[in-house]
Amino acid sequence: MVDYIGVSDVARIINTMGAGEFIERLAQQIEADYQRWGQFEKSARLASHSPVGVIELMPTSDGTLYSFKYVNGHPKNTAEGLLTVTAFGVLADVATGYPLLLSELTVSTALRTAAMSALAAKWLARPDARVMALIGNGAQSEFQSIGFHRMLGIRELRLFDVDALATAKLERNLRAMPELDDLKIVRASSTAEACRGADIITTVTADKCNAVILTPPMVRPGVHINAVGGDCPGKTELHADVLRMPDVRVVVEYEPQSRIEGEIQQMPADYPVTEFAQVCSRQVAARSSAEQITIFDSVGFALEDYSVLRFLHALVQEQRSPRQIDLVPALEDPKDLFGGTLGGQRRATLRRVS
Ligand code: NAD
Repeated sequence: MVDYIGVSDVARIINTMGAGEFIERLAQQIEADYQRWGQFEKSARLASHSPVGVIELMPTSDGTLYSFKYVNGHPKNTAEGLLTVTAFGVLADVATGYPLLLSELTVSTALRTAAMSALAAKWLARPDARVMALIGNGAQSEFQSIGFHRMLGIRELRLFDVDALATAKLERNLRAMPELDDLKIVRASSTAEACRGADIITTVTADKCNAVILTPPMVRPGVHINAVGGDCPGKTELHADVLRMPDVRVVVEYEPQSRIEGEIQQMPADYPVTEFAQVCSRQVAARSSAEQITIFDSVGFALEDYSVLRFLHALVQEQRSPRQIDLVPALEDPKDLFGGTLGGQRRATLRRVS
């Protein structure tokens, strides 16, 4: 039997623990995994593109556990009542190759993306950052808000989305959370207005094009940009001139993948970037001055899914009886797959017929 975590299991965990605590504890797990970066097998994810979206497979292994995630990105889906991003994943034992866990990863991707964003900002943003602009108020946006409130001490959120209903939904959801009572929420009428006075700018929009969400006049010295929405070829959020501004430090997850999928796909191959693993293991200083502009060019890396799968698996194993599914046959004789599965059923069917 293989352990199984569904959407309702994740909801139960979050209802017990609280989303803020989950995101913060998961961020600690992600950080610890990035600090042992050398142990992980790394590859750019395998993407299957269509005119309207992408379906991707994201594998990694640390030699003991193997994981992969199936994830899609279809920005047009919301117009048809479907999510832009859905996902599920597997954690497996390298020693036997047996799957240990099959898990939903749609909600968990939003949680891990918020954890990774807030973790990167904890290293890169100015410690006195309290005001965040949040551009794109769709499915990921509550998770980002909760993560930055909890881990960075953000106390003012400045919201903008081209869809006013999405902003209204985000504000309604955030106001319903007692733990966010001290959070000031401001609705802006444009991205430029939202960014005015912001210490951190999070862009988490969805459009399968080279969008221009941020331009240099919106970016003041000392700002940290958390660019989440640009995550596949031909899908970016920052005007290339933002990346060309003086005194900019760009941090990525895994450079070979980010060169293909990140904001830096707009730049020459020798454009300088730093991998997050170097920052969180203190090989490279996070930010050189209070005026430096830092950019976390987030695309999502397989290690973060490995971390959330392991974190979720440990949580359900603490429960007395995690849910299980018969994904793999349990056989008395491992060489008798037929007899132990189909053959046995066939005999039973024959007995019923006779
Ligand atoms: P979503 O479709 O639910 O929300 C996206 C929102 O962006 C929508 O409300 C839309 O109206 C808004 N938007 C589109 N163009 C805009 C513009 N020009 N200005 C302001 N708002 C605009 O999608 P989601 O699930 O919230 O995902 C958002 C993005 O994040 C997607 O592009 C997705 O691929 C990406 N993502 C990245 C990671 C990562 O690890 N980097 C993880 C998950 C999702």
